[in-house]
Amino acid sequence: MENWDVIIIGAGSAGLSAGIYTVRSGLKTLILDEKLPGGTISDASIVVNYPGFAEISGGELAEKMTNHCKKVGAVIHELEPVTELEFNGEKKIVNTSNASYEASAIIFSMGSHYKEVGVKGEKEFRGRGVSYCGVCDGPFFKGKKVLVVGGGNSACITTLYLSGLAGQVTVIHRREAFRAEESLVTDIAAKGNVTTLWNTEIQEIKGDKQVKTVTIIDNVTKQTSELAVDAVFVQVGEAPNSQIAKASGVETDEHGYIKIDIHQHTNMPGVFAAGDVTNHPIKQVGTAVGQGITAALEAYSYIRRPYYKK
Ligand SMILES: Cc1cc2nc3c(=O)[nH]c(=O)nc-3n(C[C@H](O)[C@H](O)[C@H](O)COP(=O)(O)OP(=O)(O)OC[C@H]3O[C@@H](n4cnc5c(N)ncnc54)[C@H](O)[C@@H]3O)c2cc1C
Repeated sequence: MENWDVIIIGAGSAGLSAGIYTVRSGLKTLILDEKLPGGTISDASIVVNYPGFAEISGGELAEKMTNHCKKVGAVIHELEPVTELEFNGEKKIVNTSNASYEASAIIFSMGSHYKEVGVKGEKEFRGRGVSYCGVCDGPFFKGKKVLVVGGGNSACITTLYLSGLAGQVTVIHRREAFRAEESLVTDIAAKGNVTTLWNTEIQEIKGDKQVKTVTIIDNVTKQTSELAVDAVFVQVGEAPNSQIAKASGVETDEHGYIKIDIHQHTNMPGVFAAGDVTNHPIKQVGTAVGQGITAALEAYSYIRRPYYKK
């Protein structure tokens, strides 16, 4: 069985940053990804909030991070999903679709996925008006008409954020009241440019090069109508890719996010987690990078136990 100092599961912003630091600390590092390296940011048409890059496509940023990580000497296995972990002894066993590896430390960085609302046009217009991230894409719709789909905390926070940028924000929620913190609900009610449509669901997203209209339905009267919008922000929840961690005994919160302390330690010795898969409240490239670096240096301390940590 191949032996590594550290195995990083997930080659997104968190995992690649962790890899740069573990390799440069002298740790023999393997990074595994079920897809191609780069992670979720590859889906962003444009990124304008990652320091040092005033404007860069998500794909290019992901490629730069991947190349940087490879250049320092990390070994990246792409298209190799991790299926199972065994944390019984000092050494940790990582089973993938085609091999088993052994490591002294593990860093989980599998990210999360946004839930889709599942309507016609959603996939087609993703990145062309359909977005899952208000902070990421909201600034592209300054003064425009936007729609938010959802009724929980994320939908309300996104609505408030967008109300400061867009000309008009419409929120549609399939129930008759938000399921969100009271203060968020009060703040939304006070916004002059926000309209809320209760008992309303989205049926279809239409457009040409960009989103132009949506079909919505009142689920009580069953009446459909067309709404002209420039963007649709789907906020019906997100879920961490934490199943393999959970199955190995790593503690998660009630939503499945891996619980970490401020040093990115999980409840298991030598097992760390970073990025969107953790219960850190902010899900951005910058925070994933910072957490990846902390996890890497903590893994180094765990393996080498340097004198200044004793
Ligand atoms: C459309 C869009 C636009 C965005 N725009 C911005 C923006 O402008 N600015 C910003 O800061 N953030 C933005 N974000 C958020 C940003 O992409 C994430 O916060 C960031 O990618 C999190 O990095 P991560 O490394 O934690 O996870 P990810 O980048 O999601 O990487 C996780 C990796 O783990 C792999 N993986 C999962 N499970 C397994 C497994 N079992 N075995 C092996 N590999 C596995 C996945 O294939 C993936 O490559 C955007 C997100 C989206 C969806």
